[in-house]
Amino acid sequence: MVRVIMLSPPGGGKGTHSRWLTQQTGAAHISSGDLLRAEVASGSKLGRRVAAYTARGDLVPDDLIFRILMPAVIAAARDTGGYVLDGFPRTMPQALRAAEWGSEFSLTSQAVIYLTAPEEELVNRLLDRAQREGREDDTLAVIRHRLAVFASETAPLVEYYRSRGILLELSTDRPESEVQAELLDWLHARGLIQPVAGESGPDHAEPAEARPPGTRDQPREHQPVKPTLTS
Ligand code: ADP
Repeated sequence: MVRVIMLSPPGGGKGTHSRWLTQQTGAAHISSGDLLRAEVASGSKLGRRVAAYTARGDLVPDDLIFRILMPAVIAAARDTGGYVLDGFPRTMPQALRAAEWGSEFSLTSQAVIYLTAPEEELVNRLLDRAQREGREDDTLAVIRHRLAVFASETAPLVEYYRSRGILLELSTDRPESEVQAELLDWLHARGLIQPVAGESGPDHAEPAEARPPGTRDQPREHQPVKPTLTS
């Protein structure tokens, strides 16, 4: 089962492509933003501390992130044997801690997908999402701040993972189907998921683990993916 980190600036498409990759592979989708928003919605003391950071677009301190995320990551990864991490790690200390957990629990990340788009496109997507979802951190001022935080805190992870040879950089400034085809192609080429025997090309991709035994050589219906662009 595949173990992937999705990395992108706000609005880069990691939510959309994480959900899609989860459907394709059966790996657990773990969204740090969703987990944090659930903690805030619960009204807990921890949630109130988290909200003070998320509302203004600052990163939640690493120690709170470890407390909230670590149990979820380990439980979900143990259940499915894989994960698509959406929004974590986001700082160098988080990346180093994630690597430690990875080796401790035999859950080391196999691939990091870095999704990019021009800054004005990111802003437009987030303003668009603000109208649909009403997230309180999707105002223009907070969006600009989140982009700056990405550049200073998260962007260094790109070179860290690139130097480890596990990074794929993809522009999302094009149709989702193209992004997804390239992503599947790359995962196949690395042997992280397998195409159906006798067929080639990303449109026929299917993870070996997701298929019931004995169905390996049978064609399957291709499931079109609905465009639902969020970060
Ligand atoms: P986006 O990618 O659009 O900024 P997310 O839903 O991933 O949205 O995250 C929303 C907010 O949650 C972030 O702006 C930040 O405040 C907080 N957050 C999410 N993940 C992390 C993380 N790994 N470390 C610190 N803060 C985080």
